Formats: sequence, structure tokens, C-alpha cells
Amino acid sequence: MTNTHQVDVILVGAGIMSATLGVFLKELSPSLSIEMFELLDGAGLESSNAWNNAGTGHAANCELNYTPELKDGSIDISKALDVNVEFDLSRQLWSYLVKNGAIQDPQSFIHPVPHMSFVTGDKNAQFLKKRFEALTAHHCYHGMEYTEDRNTLSKWAPLVMEGRDPHEKVAATRIITGADVDYGALTRTLLTHLSNAESFKTHYSHRVVNIKRKSDGLWHLKVKDTKSGEVRSVSAKFVFLGAGGGTLSLLQKSGIPEVKKYAGFPVSGVWLRCDEPTVSKNHHAKVYGKASVGSPPMSVPHLDTRVVEGKRSILFGPYAGFSTKFLKNGSLLDFFRSIRLDNIKSLLAVARDNMALTKYLIGQVLQSSKHRFATLQEFYPNAKPEDWELEVAGQRVQIIKPDPKRGAYLQFGTELIYTEDHSLVGLLGASPGASTAVFIMVDLLEKCFADKLTDEEWLPKLKEIIPSYGESLIENEKLCQQVRAETAKTLNLESL
Ligand SMILES: Cc1cc2nc3c(=O)[nH]c(=O)nc-3n(C[C@H](O)[C@H](O)[C@H](O)COP(=O)(O)OP(=O)(O)OC[C@H]3O[C@@H](n4cnc5c(N)ncnc54)[C@H](O)[C@@H]3O)c2cc1C
Repeated sequence: MTNTHQVDVILVGAGIMSATLGVFLKELSPSLSIEMFELLDGAGLESSNAWNNAGTGHAANCELNYTPELKDGSIDISKALDVNVEFDLSRQLWSYLVKNGAIQDPQSFIHPVPHMSFVTGDKNAQFLKKRFEALTAHHCYHGMEYTEDRNTLSKWAPLVMEGRDPHEKVAATRIITGADVDYGALTRTLLTHLSNAESFKTHYSHRVVNIKRKSDGLWHLKVKDTKSGEVRSVSAKFVFLGAGGGTLSLLQKSGIPEVKKYAGFPVSGVWLRCDEPTVSKNHHAKVYGKASVGSPPMSVPHLDTRVVEGKRSILFGPYAGFSTKFLKNGSLLDFFRSIRLDNIKSLLAVARDNMALTKYLIGQVLQSSKHRFATLQEFYPNAKPEDWELEVAGQRVQIIKPDPKRGAYLQFGTELIYTEDHSLVGLLGASPGASTAVFIMVDLLEKCFADKLTDEEWLPKLKEIIPSYGESLIENEKLCQQVRAETAKTLNLESL
């Protein structure tokens, strides 16, 4: 092993999260020396890769799980509003990068695609209407439409209506400002931009195998070149573990007390994908339905227009499943290796409290291709098997979070785990995910670099990148409209 080489910042993993943080840090402080280590031989190939996720620019427009119905029958839109404006931060960073030439063509990664929620049956239609009324009372959802009219629906989503029982009650909402995003392409564009920056280096085919803090106060990482087998040591004052499903294991190896009792629950997935142009040309929407009982919130089925490398396709799913891998390119031993004496109780508590989820996942795993196709036909009645192929989705490692009362619970979100001094940070979880990478990284900057966010140092630049920084777009209607109009223009999205 060669001597330790020291840099200011180490980013582990070349997915959308590390790439976004890298861009922020280089914009805010160009002189920082940053090295990134990625175990695969390219960027954005795990969860961030286009076909490993659904590419929804999540703005809680169409995902019904963000707007629960309360016991009194009212709809709680608070979570939806948060997610909605988090996506505005992403739009602002991407617009900034388009304007300064770092992203040459926004259509290399983002396309306007309406977001729709579609339901059948009286009860679901009533819920959707109430949800629509609650959302459109707020300026953030200005322009959302609701219909029960079959002709209108046939225009919005012809494939969803063709061949459907004419007596079935149908209802939908639509907002045309939605987006489809190729997060893999975006990650690669960000890294190409970073590779031109001084003192930023990316090392592909390099696995971080260990991380420890030494007496010099620095984090020392052991990194293995998976091609040559060489192991070297790199150290830094600040380390971000953006290793997706690989983050939990690295946090555990670091020995920090903050990760004690945390565990991971892997959910795998498959899609049905249709590249047939005569079919895909007739669908221009992301159509989200209602989740089945017991299903995890991120497994709501949806029929999505995707635009990847300039080609239109349709993606349907995800059909959830259980695999013990923590990364799509990982090992079946990942889950077992994550079990520690300190997290066994958390795992058992979650197993005890989530029987409905367990049943749902077993049901999904046992589904035959005929069953899967029948679920697609609930969305697209005239779908033909020969037009569709199976595509394996990325792995999502849901957080098992310790809790004094319940022992532990499943958290279907993302969480940054910090050391007390904020010198080591790891990102756990996956939803809403890539869409909110910018929001998550702004949060990280505020926690880890609070002393730099002053008028004399990083704040003016941060406000240039994110013009709404420090303001609430939920409260400030005028600013919200302005940010949306400007970013829509730069990114060529629809504006209302
Ligand atoms: C089925 C599915 C659907 C989804 N749909 C959406 C969606 O519609 N919209 C949305 O916004 N989000 C969605 N997501 C979530 C989104 O894909 C993720 O939140 C996001 O891609 C995570 O980015 P990341 O950079 O953290 O992880 P990744 O993209 O997984 O990157 C982590 C990288 O770390 C590397 N790595 C791991 N271990 C090591 C190690 N020890 N050393 C070096 N490198 C390592 C991996 O190889 C990988 O390249 C979806 C996810 C899934 C699985």
C-alpha cells in the first residue's frame, strides 16, 4: 500500500447525489481539492441510471401517497407542498448550469411530460376530487386540471382509455408542467463539467473498502482499484458517502455511534418497458395510480413516458420484490453483512410491525408474467405482450430507523447521517430521491458548512445558483411564479 494522499473533500460514489454535491462545492469554493471514488467503470450506472429509476421529476403532482386522507375526511397536503417546492431547487440549479454553459442542452436530460393521477371507481374518484380541490387552493398547484370526462381523458392519455369498460367510473388530474428526467445522463453531464475543474478527480473502478478516523483528525479511506487490485489510502477533512445502497455498510465500517441500531431493508423491482414507436408515440404523460394495500409507498404503479438518449419509450411498474442485494450490481450477501449486534432488534421490530408489507412483497415476487401483464392492462387495457420486455430496476434500501417506543420503524424517505462535528456524512434511503438531490445537498451545506454560509464567503454565490434561497416558495406566491416561469424557459418546460 502506498502512502496516504490528502485532499480537502472525498465523495464516495458517482451517482446524482455526489455529483450534485461536487458541483455545489466547486461553484462555492473552486480551490477545494476533491476526489471521487466509484466502484463501477462509469458515472450514474446504479440507481441514478435512466432505466433503474422511473425518471419522474417528483413534485408531488401525481403521487397519491403524498396526500393522505385524514380521519375527518380532509386531505393533508403538507408533505406534497414540501416535495413540490423541493423540486424547484433542482430546477434552479439546473437552470444556473444551463445559463453558465455547464449543461449545453437541457433536453439531454429533461423533457416536459404531464403528470397525471388516474383512478377508477366512485370512492377513488371522490378522493381524487377532494385532493384536487385541496391542492389547487394553493398557488403551488396552479394549473392542475381534474376530469371525469372520458373524451377529455382520451385526449390526455389515449392508451389508458382505449378498450376500457365504458361503464367504469374514471377520474384523473393532470398538470402539464411535469417533467421526465434522465438522472443518469444528468450525472454524467455534471461529472464531465467537474472533470474540467481544477483539482477535481474521479477514479472509476475504485471501491472504498474501509473508512476510519485517525489521530490526525482526518478520515482515512482504503480504496481498492478493482482492475489492478492495488489498495491505497486517501484522507480528507470532509467525506460524503453517496454510495447509494453501499452507504450503510461504509457508515458501519466508520464505527460512528450515530449509525448504531440503523439497518436497511432492500426492495428490488422490475419494470415492463415498451420501445415500440407506434405505441410510445400515443402516450405523453406519467400516469400514477393508487397503491395496493400493504404496498410500500414508492411501489405505486405508473405508466410513464420516458425519453432516454433521444428515444421515446413507455415504462410501467415498478413491481416490487425482495432481494438481499443492496445495490443492483451488489452481492446477495449485502443484507446479511449489514446485520450487527446493535441492529438485530431494529430488524426484528420492523419484521414484527410490517406483516402487510412482507405479504405484499412475497406476492409480488411470486407474480407470474401473466399476473404482471394483467396489472399493466388495468392501466392500458389494449396492451400487447409482444410490445413489452422486462427491465430490472435499481435496488432501494429503505431505512430501518431506531425508535425508543417501537424499537424501530421503516422510513420511506432519505436521511443524512452526520458525525457530531459534521465531518462525515452518509445518505441513507431513496425516496423521493434523485429529484430532490439539490434540496438534500443544500441541507447538507447548511449543516456541514454553516460557518462558510456568510455574506463574506459562500452565501452570495449560493443565492446566485438558487435565487429563491432563504425564501419559502410555499409562502411567497410571486417568487414561486417567477422561479417557475424562469426555470421553465431555460429548461424548455411547460409553464402556466
Ligand atoms: C425503482 C426505482 C425507481 C425510482 N424512481 C425515481 C423517480 O422516479 N424519481 C426520482 O427522483 N428518484 C427515483 N428513484 C430514486 C433515485 O434513483 C435515487 O434516489 C438516486 O438515484 C440515488 O442517487 P445516489 O447518487 O445516492 O445513488 P446511486 O445512483 O446508486 O449511486 C451510488 C454510487 O455509489 C457506488 N458505490 C457503492 N458502494 C461503493 C463503494 N464502496 N465504493 C465506491 N463506490 C461505491 C455505486 O456503484 C453507485 O454508482 C428511484 C429508485 C428506484 C430504485
